[in-house]
Amino acid sequence: MLKATEVRALLIDIAEMFIAKKEELSDYDSVIGDGDHGFTMARGAEAAKLKMLEMDAASCRDYFKVYGRTLISTLGGAMGPLYGSVFLELSKACRGKTEVGLKEFAEGFVNAHQKVTDLGGAKPGDKTMVDAMVPAALALVDAEQNARSLLAGFDAAVLAANEGVQSTIPLIAKRGRSRYLQQKAIGHQDAGATSFSYLIHTIHQFIARREA
Ligand code: ADP
Ligand code: MG
Repeated sequence: MLKATEVRALLIDIAEMFIAKKEELSDYDSVIGDGDHGFTMARGAEAAKLKMLEMDAASCRDYFKVYGRTLISTLGGAMGPLYGSVFLELSKACRGKTEVGLKEFAEGFVNAHQKVTDLGGAKPGDKTMVDAMVPAALALVDAEQNARSLLAGFDAAVLAANEGVQSTIPLIAKRGRSRYLQQKAIGHQDAGATSFSYLIHTIHQFIARREA
């Protein structure tokens, strides 16, 4: 279980990861999109990191909530509400809890998938972040139902998200700008699925380091 102070530290790690992956994620987006995904995510991450550093001691729920709201207000476009809702749903799953564990992460990511579907209409196989999100969320649910540890749950979620990213390579995009490319998108992994898998990796690394 992660305490509130650890959730804040985790969110700062997530922000630093997006800042570090700026060029790489934009390179993926430049092949089949408009090349801004990394820059967009890094811009949101800079703002969200500052908020985390400025905030007074708060609950797990509030750290996730402020992070999500900051993404929504600084990213704009489609990615603001889509990525913002991931953190807002994690926040909701932490309601009334002093610590975050597998149950909260599983619930948060499952509900985030629902929210992203409601907002953007992407289905699995549309070559979007959903293709990494669904397998990762399902891996967490499965781990939770089998009473596995938080680390074991994220071990499985990392593998599932990686496979999800790989699964986008042969696809034609049905959502986002890449859909205009049709056949030309085949052979390239989706930027949003890639960034989502890095989010899962960062949570995994945080938990693994803490248990080492
Ligand atoms: P933009 O498309 O506005 O340039 P970004 O480049 O930041 O935004 O993000 C592109 C990523 O957004 C895509 O790689 C894809 O994963 C994701 N995406 C696009 N449309 C949707 C959607 N409707 N639902 C979920 N994810 C989407
Ligand atoms: Mg783009």
